[in-house]
Order: sequence, then C-alpha cells, then structure tokens
Amino acid sequence: MIVVMREGASAGQIEHVVERLVEDGFKVHRTTGNTQIILAGVGRPDSFDVKEYEVLDGVTEAYRISSPYKLAGRNFAPEGTVIRFPNGVSVGGEEVVVMAGPCAVESREQLFASAAIVKHAGGQFLRGGAFKPRSSPYSFQGMGLDGLKLLREAGDTTGLLIITEVMEIAQIETILPYTDCFQVGARNMQNFNLLRELGQVRKPVLLKRGPAATVEELLLSSEYILAGGNYKVMLCERGIKTFETYTRNTMDISAIPVVKKLSHLPIIGDPSHGSGRRDLVAAMARAALAAGADGLIIEVHPNPEKAVSDGAQTLFPEQLEALMGELRAIAPALGRRLAG
Ligand code: PEP
Ligand code: MN
Repeated sequence: MIVVMREGASAGQIEHVVERLVEDGFKVHRTTGNTQIILAGVGRPDSFDVKEYEVLDGVTEAYRISSPYKLAGRNFAPEGTVIRFPNGVSVGGEEVVVMAGPCAVESREQLFASAAIVKHAGGQFLRGGAFKPRSSPYSFQGMGLDGLKLLREAGDTTGLLIITEVMEIAQIETILPYTDCFQVGARNMQNFNLLRELGQVRKPVLLKRGPAATVEELLLSSEYILAGGNYKVMLCERGIKTFETYTRNTMDISAIPVVKKLSHLPIIGDPSHGSGRRDLVAAMARAALAAGADGLIIEVHPNPEKAVSDGAQTLFPEQLEALMGELRAIAPALGRRLAG
C-alpha cells in the first residue's frame, strides 16, 4: 500500500495517515522526496479500503500493491491449478477440454441425442441446464429433478462428465448426486451466499463471469468458494455487456490471458453466450483457445432451430464436429493438446 502525500501536507495530516496504516496492520516506511512525503505500508493485512486513504486530508494518491484476492491469486499456486475429474479428465494442464450440449435439458430424446453428438465429436463433458435462469418468468424454467436424472443417465451411458447450473443454495443438495461439476451462471456470480455454500462442497465449480463484472470482481467471487476449502474452481469468460449490439455479448478474449496472469485457476471460454450467434461461435472458440483457455463450453443441439432456449447461438451437430477438427489442429501450435 502506497500513500502519496500532497506537497505541503501538514505534520498532523501525515501522522494521521501513519496512524490509520498502523491500525490497518501495516508497518510504515516513510520516504521524503524533493517535495512530497511517500508512505509505504508493508505487510498483508486481511482487509483495507484504498478509497478510505484517498479521501484523507493531505493525501493525493493511494495505491494497493498487493492483490485483494489471496487464494485465487497466482502467487498462491504459481504452477497453476489442475482439477482432476473421476474419469481421468483433468482441466488446467496441457490438455484442453470441451464441454458441450444443449442450453437446457428438454427431453430424454433431445438429451440422449445431444450426448451422442458430444461423444462422437470428442468432448469430455455434457452440459445442460435443469434449472434455467431466464430473463422472463414466462419462459421455460427447466426440467428440474427430472432433468438432473436424465443428465446422470446420459453421463453414465456415454462416459461423459456432467456439468449443470445451480441457481440457489437449496438446489445444491438436490444437484450434488447427479453432477460432476456445478456451474454458477453469470447472473449469480455475485450471489455470495451461494458461493460460500459451494465452498463447502467437494465437487468442482465453474464460475461464470457476470455480464458487467470486472476480472477482479470475478476473482474476488471465486475467493468465496476457495475460502470455504473448495479449491476446485474453474473460471469462465462468457461475454460482457458493451455498447455493441451486433453480438448478444462482447466476448472479452483479453480476459483469458489476464486471468492466466493474475490467477492460478483454469479458465474456460464460452463462445456461445459470448457471441449469441452460431455463425460466430467457431471464430470465438478458436480465439479463446489461442488466447490460452484451458477449455471451451459450447452449446449444441440435435435440432437447434427447435431448441427451447438459446437456439440462435447453438451449433448444429456437424458444426461442432468441424470445429473440433479445427481445434485439434490448432492446439499443438500452442503447446496444447485437445483432450480425448
Ligand atoms: C448457460 O450456460 O446456458 C447460461 C445460462 O449461461 P450464462 O450464465 O453465462 O448466461
Ligand atoms: Mn444458454
């Protein structure tokens, strides 16, 4: 923590800042420049607010020099976190995983057909929402428990891992036996109570970035899960709100290397929600891989034009096949390998 005092700041103002730094748990080092006093607070207090220093009398600037996230920060595991799943799949290592499936579980036929498509294309995870966060309360809300049972059955039949969304604390216990990985959707990235509870489970969590969240806020949200002792957290870039209207969201490809730099947690790219258009999904998937993503989560459906949700961004089966071929060809140039 660095506090730069205004030229001519009084001894009393300087002393007050020093007292505040000491109260917050810092050791204070004082440097006198030509015209200004600079106070360096050294140490790692659990919490302090830079803004509180900025507004003190006699202060011109205050900077945080340590990251606010302790467990999600790169320093916590400099070599990077690898999350191992039951069937030998791991995320965060050399291999790049593909999670694919429909936006929502709609029926047995639809889900089993989707699972066959994902398996055939060479994916590792079957995705599909049984509980759906919909913008309108009148839209399809998901199949609930029946959807979870179908997911588990499709996973066991094909050997694919299951990833499905949890929207509230009460659903954790219901979902737990049926899934291999929880997904926290973009809308719930700052549902801190839900995140805290997911810190108590011992199954991996994919935490999606909120549509208006900064990377720092995403990392701070992951900290809630990590702080509970659940270290199996993957992050996901799924597009953010910008002034661009051509795409549903703006896929922030730069967030991928930023997360890699700031954190040890694996990062997954979601080109489906990131673009909102199936004609852009492949390009965004290739870009995410090139930017360093550890995996991709992609919507695919046996008949996307009949999908009950997110049809426009959902790939036709043959489009997923073609994309997988491209990704398989690109990965080695990046020192990676497509899993499977
Ligand atoms: C989804 O994966 O279908 C979904 C609802 O994603 P997001 O939370 O990113 O909107
Ligand atoms: Mn969707």
